[in-house]
Amino acid sequence: MSNDENTPVLRGCIKLPLANDELLEVTSKAKDYAIMHGAAMRSKTAFSPDSLNFAPFVLVPSSFPRKEFEKAIALQPIINRLMHNVAHDEEFITTTLAETIKVDEFTANLFNIYRKVLAHGFTQRISLGMLRSDLMLESCCPELSPMLHHVENNMAASTVTAAANAPATSTVAAATSTVAAATAGGGGDDDDDVAEANGKVDNVGIVRATKSAYCCWKQVEINTIASGFGHLGPASKTIQSFVLRELGHAEKLKHMPKNDALAGLCDGMVKAWDIYGKPESVILFIIEDISYNICDQRFHEFYIRETYPHIKVLRRTLTEVHREGKLGQRKELLLGTTEVAVIYFRAGYEPAHYPTQGEWDARYLMETSLAIKCPSIHYHLAGTKKVQQALAQPAVLERFINDPEEIKAVGKIFTGLYSLDDNDAGNANYEMALRTPEKFVLKPQREGGGNNVYGVDIPDALKRMTRVERSAWILMDLIHPPLSQGYMVRPGSEMPPQIVDMVSELGIFGVVIGDADNIVHNYQAGHMLRTKLSTANEGGVAAGLGALDSPYLIDSDGEEGYY
Ligand code: ADP
Ligand code: MG
Repeated sequence: MSNDENTPVLRGCIKLPLANDELLEVTSKAKDYAIMHGAAMRSKTAFSPDSLNFAPFVLVPSSFPRKEFEKAIALQPIINRLMHNVAHDEEFITTTLAETIKVDEFTANLFNIYRKVLAHGFTQRISLGMLRSDLMLESCCPELSPMLHHVENNMAASTVTAAANAPATSTVAAATSTVAAATAGGGGDDDDDVAEANGKVDNVGIVRATKSAYCCWKQVEINTIASGFGHLGPASKTIQSFVLRELGHAEKLKHMPKNDALAGLCDGMVKAWDIYGKPESVILFIIEDISYNICDQRFHEFYIRETYPHIKVLRRTLTEVHREGKLGQRKELLLGTTEVAVIYFRAGYEPAHYPTQGEWDARYLMETSLAIKCPSIHYHLAGTKKVQQALAQPAVLERFINDPEEIKAVGKIFTGLYSLDDNDAGNANYEMALRTPEKFVLKPQREGGGNNVYGVDIPDALKRMTRVERSAWILMDLIHPPLSQGYMVRPGSEMPPQIVDMVSELGIFGVVIGDADNIVHNYQAGHMLRTKLSTANEGGVAAGLGALDSPYLIDSDGEEGYY
């Protein structure tokens, strides 16, 4: 990750370090608490279907600017609608993915299913979208330093480099809240005020990059398939609330926002089940051969079974659906004699989930069935990185959103996203990546982590590709989140844990149900926070670099001490 000694640090929730004895005791307790409250995973190194390890977690919650959190929550229904409209725009999806599917076999296979379904007409017009919009705070947000941004676009490269390397100043904090408030309300343009407070030009004309820990956020990606942590998100808050209480800080719990992600997502599935309208039908979870992240699936199942005991949940792999599944007379999906109303994909987003043609056939069977899919194939394609990149281009949002204020608010969450298609613009972006790779991350059309190329590794990766192969990738500005400091607790790691520098990624869940003409349900459905070591590029919790966390909302980044 790109951070340096100038990277701002978010003020902590409590004063650290803790005394050694206290730290040891509370950490041991918290580990047990985590396992016993289902904040757990199967071990990859010592796998057993009969046991669980606690999932890595951060001991006390990480700070997050309240206004930015509230802005993200408020924006989610708009993002839901945007993605719903994108998913239903056949021309946009087809044009956007045209180059990509020439070289990316996985996306091409998905697209082929889409094409075949389109040709035969959709058996089920309703889709269930359970999205997660992932975002990071941007400590050197150009919107907060509009003068810097302006100068970057207009000044000679050497001056700009000097500016980017200039020491951080702390002038931005006061103005940040103004911007956040304006964006949250969707109105008012306070850019001029902000320009005064930020992007300082000193008397030799060099622009100083302003950085702030209390800063705005940018979208990392939007997930439309297998958006995980609906259980582990709220579970993180449970552990950290327990820890704060144990440490004598119960009064701080009020700054941890409520998180009903599990209920919100499961209720979404049940709403879809209701729409399907067959009392004997079931909800089917499509799962991997081995589910390491088992709690984050079983708790969904258990919630549904406990809250709606009349609704059965089945779990099957794609291979099993291939073996057992067939369509009935009304094109209903049958597993044996059981009719499936809703299909919730927790697998199917990466090539390894389709080891043979059989799994692809199973996916196609489900897509042509009457069952309501989460996601349907068009939703899946709408969640590709290529579509995200296309959405961030000027004027594209107008195709999907009518309200100018909403367009403005959504436009602000995109950081630079660049095509690498084989055309003039794509080739210019390619040259830009070779010149300043440290500013970017290179992403293929994959989900699930571990696929991206970062910074200095980008030129080699790009040079190994043909011009056509490059179009399967997109280039994205690297986001520079502020640091937080705390204890990360992992199975098998040293006790007591050391204080480490960390960065966080917030995910906001959204549920949207509807067809091409109408949206019948659209709501924000809780959140999750993942935190990783600041030195790590990626922070997948199951992959071993990330840890469960939850936000502790702060109102400013002043120096007046801890909350
Ligand atoms: P995936 O679909 O594999 O989850 P992501 O786009 O979410 O792909 O990238 C994986 C991880 O890489 C993110 O969770 C984040 O930690 C890091 N990352 C992705 N994009 C950026 C970015 N623009 N700036 C900084 N970090 C990023
Ligand atoms: Mg991701």
